[in-house]
Amino acid sequence: MKRFVLELAMIITCIAAAAGNAALAHYAGFNLFGLTLWFVIPVGALIVGAIAASGAIVAARLFDIRPTLWQGIVSATIVGAATMLLIYFLEYNMLEVRGTKIRTLVDFWTYVDLSLTKSHMRMGRSRQDLGEAGDLGYLLALLKLGGFVLGAFFVFAMIRGMAACPRCGAYLKTVRTRKSSDLPIDEAAAVHEQFISGDVPAIRQAVTWPPEPRALEKKQPKARLIYKLCRCPRCALSAVIGTLEVSGGREFKEVKDSKTMRPLPDNDTVVTTAF
Ligand SMILES: [Zn+2]
Repeated sequence: MKRFVLELAMIITCIAAAAGNAALAHYAGFNLFGLTLWFVIPVGALIVGAIAASGAIVAARLFDIRPTLWQGIVSATIVGAATMLLIYFLEYNMLEVRGTKIRTLVDFWTYVDLSLTKSHMRMGRSRQDLGEAGDLGYLLALLKLGGFVLGAFFVFAMIRGMAACPRCGAYLKTVRTRKSSDLPIDEAAAVHEQFISGDVPAIRQAVTWPPEPRALEKKQPKARLIYKLCRCPRCALSAVIGTLEVSGGREFKEVKDSKTMRPLPDNDTVVTTAF
């Protein structure tokens, strides 16, 4: 049963995303799903696909479900395709031509076929090569489908990136966050190395670093340490998740693979009091 909770949640958000897209197109004249960058990058489909799958995040957190990579790929493909079909289906039921409902004139698949061909005509080819236009329309539709699936898969990648309790598998909740002041990069890296491999007092030292703020030159690249105190809502395990961020200019970026979780001993008073 638990296996299908994510899917059930996604059915709800998938319908909501398709209905929202259809309402926006119908009442505001803006078809988000059709939004593309340079005709090929399906930005709108990516967004709608992610919204359609977003129910999985809520369900995963509520029921502590960790989808496998395969479940992510399969579910994203199904949700992506279902959302796209549903959008066409809603359009088909809402569109009118001179007061006549489209659905009384053609069947659904004919409508999809027509609307794909039509989307090409807006690109300004002559009516003569309609055959070719159809093929290109299907290619563009395939790109959009790819956008939907990728958007939905992004949600699964996010879920798989959420930190879970190493003892019982429940998703951790962040209790507190501590951010260091700006530090020279090598100093921050050394402290973070201590956090990753050191004992409990070393974790505390990293979390409370630096003892005094450092004076940095304006143009000097800088780093900072982010430590989150997390707790497992099920078994009460505490852990610290630490990341090293660096900045050459304005924005700080997480250093790849710097994110590390250090579970704390039960009833820890050394590290938790540092937050
Ligand atoms: Zn736990």
